[in-house]
Amino acid sequence: MLLGFLFCKETLARLDDYVDRELSPHEMRQVATHLKICAKCARLYHFERGFIEDMRAKVSEVQAPPELMGRVRLALRAADESARG
Ligand SMILES: [Zn+2]
Repeated sequence: MLLGFLFCKETLARLDDYVDRELSPHEMRQVATHLKICAKCARLYHFERGFIEDMRAKVSEVQAPPELMGRVRLALRAADESARG
């Protein structure tokens, strides 16, 4: 069961990418497992995620050009239509 278990050091090294969901599905799972059993890393993760989401919220308030929003909406509609087949 300890196969694929990450140490704190390894988890923290991946934390940025975990928050950005840039890890492989396998690594995402490894980090998620570690965060479940390690309060110390979980606290750091929540702190970091809160900080990053806060930053993103501020950035998107300022930027988000209408042109981009239009493209996002088109993409969402296309995805919706292809999902309905
Ligand atoms: Zn840990």
